Amino acid sequence: MHLESTISGLLVWAKIELNEQNSAAIDARVLLCHCAQITPSFVMTWPEKVLPVEVIDRFRYLVGLRKLGHPIAYLVGYRDFWTLRLKVSEDTLIPRPETELLVEQALALHLPSQAKVLDLGTGTGAIALALASERSNWQVKGVDFMPKAVALAQDNAQQCGLTQVQFSISNWFAQIPPQQFDLIVSNPPYVESDSPYLSQGDVRFEPLWALISGESGLDDIAKIITQAGQYLNESGWLLFEHGYLQGPAISALFKQAGFIACFTAQDLNGLDRVTGAQFFPR
Ligand code: GLN
Repeated sequence: MHLESTISGLLVWAKIELNEQNSAAIDARVLLCHCAQITPSFVMTWPEKVLPVEVIDRFRYLVGLRKLGHPIAYLVGYRDFWTLRLKVSEDTLIPRPETELLVEQALALHLPSQAKVLDLGTGTGAIALALASERSNWQVKGVDFMPKAVALAQDNAQQCGLTQVQFSISNWFAQIPPQQFDLIVSNPPYVESDSPYLSQGDVRFEPLWALISGESGLDDIAKIITQAGQYLNESGWLLFEHGYLQGPAISALFKQAGFIACFTAQDLNGLDRVTGAQFFPR
């Protein structure tokens, strides 16, 4: 029997193929489990099991794409975020662990029990759905300017059984009818247009419009802060995920726009990642 048709043989082969990626072993296992529709514990228990040729062909193809740098989440079609499994597509950013900090910070605020909440630039729907999964009484809306992202977020709402979350098309606030929210959250594009980071790793395969925001990376955040007052209740909150050096600049923008109680929170790497403030019109 040829070694490379067994689970362990295929994993050894794939780890060698992927040895330039530091996550080679995990990537190989995730792709194999996906192609063979098996669990990691099956892999551990039955390393000598021979897999069908169609599974092996598919696995070799996906390992080849991974070798070219394609993100695992796009290859398997999903990413886990918070407690949810979300479908992903190349039309949106892949949900990231740092973004869970935004969810945590939002959940820690003192808000009305039936809070009206808006997620701007929702993408897969990750933030909106995570919030709704924790607060069933909140009225959560998510918007995105990409119709394909809105369809994906709606699909994720169905899959997660969170159909109370409403998703619609809007370019930031442009298509949102006048109304006031208690909380607005956003993980907008915030990378500087000339950032060397854009030519490395998974991010090369993600949509640039979801990443770049002008030379400083702050164009969209500044725009949202300027317009948000019209859509916030008095003492409503606006929270952003942002780049690790952008906290002070965002706090300054908040203060200029009449926000108070500004705070910045650090991610698991100890880097500034979320800044929020409360709208308090004078
Ligand atoms: N945090 C993202 C990254 O690391 C940037 C996402 C964004 O611009 N919202 O690629």
